[in-house]
Amino acid sequence: MLKTAQGLPVLVRKNRRARHIKLYVTGQREVKLTLPWYAPLSAGVAVLKEKEVWIEKTLAKLPPRITRAKAEIEHYKTVAFDQLSALAEEHAVKCGVTFRNIRIGDQATRWGSCSRSGTLSFNWRLALMPENIRRYIVIHEICHLKEMNHSPRFWSLVAAQYPEYKLARKWLRKNKADLA
Ligand SMILES: [Zn+2]
Repeated sequence: MLKTAQGLPVLVRKNRRARHIKLYVTGQREVKLTLPWYAPLSAGVAVLKEKEVWIEKTLAKLPPRITRAKAEIEHYKTVAFDQLSALAEEHAVKCGVTFRNIRIGDQATRWGSCSRSGTLSFNWRLALMPENIRRYIVIHEICHLKEMNHSPRFWSLVAAQYPEYKLARKWLRKNKADLA
């Protein structure tokens, strides 16, 4: 992979409509290199070398966004852990199961999952969801401790604790969510 002198990865793209080699730095501190269809990668590398100083200066001028976002995520992870632990304990008792521990992760597309060993994993973004949706996701994973599938038996376990689960699923679908 192509990298800048500072070691940042460079996202290289060929664009049929581009007429010149274009190098830019995004607000997310990404370095992007766009090549017209006829330009070889070596021409792009040459531009990259030529613009190293400019890249460094541009990056230095950007606000430290990434650092702040990381701190924010850490904050939400703590919030999510407290909220989800309480919900999981409540519904594990109601469902008559026990779980081993709770993990809060940063999965790109999954809201929750559960392992056979009894670990429940949840996405920190649940901290930002409506309370009833968060509760549904916890119930969903807790019920998987009894039924490791999406059979009618599984759904009746879910319905016993969350009768309006179809509405929650609809909300998740609308919000582009994927629940394992
Ligand atoms: Zn599931």
